[in-house]
Amino acid sequence: MSDARLYDTLRKVFGFREFRPNQERVVRAILAQKDVFAVMPTGGGKSLCYQLPAVLLPGTCMVISPLIALMKDQVDGARANGIRAAFLNSSLLPDERDEVIHDLLTNALDLLYVAPERFTLDHFREVIGRVKISMAVIDEAHCISEWGHDFRPDYLSLSDLVTLFPDIPVAAFTATATHRVQQDILDKLALRTPLVVRASFDRPNLFYDIRFKDNPEAQLVALLKKNPGKAGIIYRTSRKSVNDSAAMLQAKGFRALPYHAGLSDADRKHNQDAFIRDEVDIIVATIAFGMGIDKSNIRFVIHADLPKSIENYYQETGRAGRDGEPAQCTLLFAQGDIPKMRFFIDAMLDETERARALGALTKVIAFASNSVCRRRTLLEYFGESYPHENCNSCDICLGTREVVDCTREAQMLLSAIVRTEERFGAMHIVDIVTGSANKKIRDFGHDRLKTYGVGKEHEKKYWRQLIDELLAQKVIEKSEGLYPTLFLLPKAIQLLKGEDRIEIVRVEEKKKEKASPLKSVSSTAPYNQELFELLRTLRKQIANEQGIPPYIVFSDRTLHDMAALYPRTAETMLTVSGVGEVKLERYGTQFLRLIDRYCSDHDLDQ
Ligand code: ADP
Ligand code: ZN
Repeated sequence: MSDARLYDTLRKVFGFREFRPNQERVVRAILAQKDVFAVMPTGGGKSLCYQLPAVLLPGTCMVISPLIALMKDQVDGARANGIRAAFLNSSLLPDERDEVIHDLLTNALDLLYVAPERFTLDHFREVIGRVKISMAVIDEAHCISEWGHDFRPDYLSLSDLVTLFPDIPVAAFTATATHRVQQDILDKLALRTPLVVRASFDRPNLFYDIRFKDNPEAQLVALLKKNPGKAGIIYRTSRKSVNDSAAMLQAKGFRALPYHAGLSDADRKHNQDAFIRDEVDIIVATIAFGMGIDKSNIRFVIHADLPKSIENYYQETGRAGRDGEPAQCTLLFAQGDIPKMRFFIDAMLDETERARALGALTKVIAFASNSVCRRRTLLEYFGESYPHENCNSCDICLGTREVVDCTREAQMLLSAIVRTEERFGAMHIVDIVTGSANKKIRDFGHDRLKTYGVGKEHEKKYWRQLIDELLAQKVIEKSEGLYPTLFLLPKAIQLLKGEDRIEIVRVEEKKKEKASPLKSVSSTAPYNQELFELLRTLRKQIANEQGIPPYIVFSDRTLHDMAALYPRTAETMLTVSGVGEVKLERYGTQFLRLIDRYCSDHDLDQ
């Protein structure tokens, strides 16, 4: 294949001037009829790796994908670029299905998405036996491995793909595969000396930030205020906290909806659709949310509770910034969250599962508590070494994290525990230190203690949190039973004697303001915010008319480019990333007209 033809198609069909890392290798291998196995992170641009050959090769490219919810999205996206695409799955009505099969038989499809179970049907095999299949693609290929986290027995039927189609290339893609899963996939599919690509798992446009959680509600509101009108996910552990946070945000005027497995199917679908279609900005969700979400313009992911594992954290944050534009990932971390998670783990019946969960939790705690570049830690977790000293795009590398010495405050608490002979619980100790005048305090005469009221300068919440820290750092311990009391561990004695110190991590808010993550991540040129908002409104209007999600009309990246370049002619419009010939024809006039009017209203005429 000549370079010119390849790059021509990349530009005309997809509107891109360059390949992302590894895309070209994969595309060229497929065009040379070679099998491919590629591990690429979310947002790495896997679709283009097979959609481009699908356009160039004669016949239909068959894509086997387990995510029915995503098929429509993928097909809408491909069609928006003028690619002849369709899907076959159980959601189609008989008439619709017949139409797709008719198109397939008349060679009118470049791309056909099918669910794995269809692939096992004799009828389907008979149909594809009658048409020219150009290549076979297995999306989410980790589903074939029992070692992966998402094994689908249906996928095992794909083992005979290579035998069924001895003459066409088979390409398997996944965003998650350890080396063990990778080998398993290669074995199960029996790929023939495939090109194996493992892309870096680094997501350079994501900014990682871990903050000390002291007041999650206020912290969430503050974070959202910094990202007005942007799309984001807030992850919480329990259904109740999801509902509470969503209600709290709604009451404060944010456009937010909840999502968790306790909602009815209809409500879940409604809330997810509203988010995908930019009708609400924020989805507050348990980890039930995210699979099968292709929304490319998610600008932030906030973990308001500790994720279960580093892998979870990586996947959940990975949903941000698929379009390659800057996105922010913030984790609010408190040692106090750990006991709750331990509680659920301890209740697990399967011993292996329990040990695995505990190991994962320990690693994620270390990740959140230590002072190593977040990006480096994540990549090392996946067996990749990060080549740079400073990633310039995490709280550690930007030095926005601060360690606060709270030895004096800890001594106040410990002293109150000692003076009450280790016979009281956390609430009472806090009441002593803050000088509460309640009945229990008076009944015990604790208002006469030397430590009574010494910690008035902090709120009760602060002291509760510090107790959690002391528990987590094994300075004190809680007794078993219905009314647990606090008692000292050896480290407490050292602290009281002044032989040891205790530190907690805090974020220095002021410094943070200066080094705004959106400025530190360099991939976007400056653009006109006001024009961007107008373009966004137009995009939403077109998306509504056509019944597709806004990001399928144009990505945020494309609108940023327009708001930076002010294209005034079809020719310049084509230089905008993501504008190919079909999109130009379909949407070009409307966007050009808007930009034109904006320019003349603002005296920006050249
Ligand atoms: P993945 O499936 O690997 O998560 P996608 O195929 O959904 O990634 O692509 C993610 C985003 O990147 C999409 O918005 C897509 O249009 C964009 N993209 C893909 N390839 C390129 C490229 N070569 N240049 C610019 N943007 C690209
Ligand atoms: Zn870093």
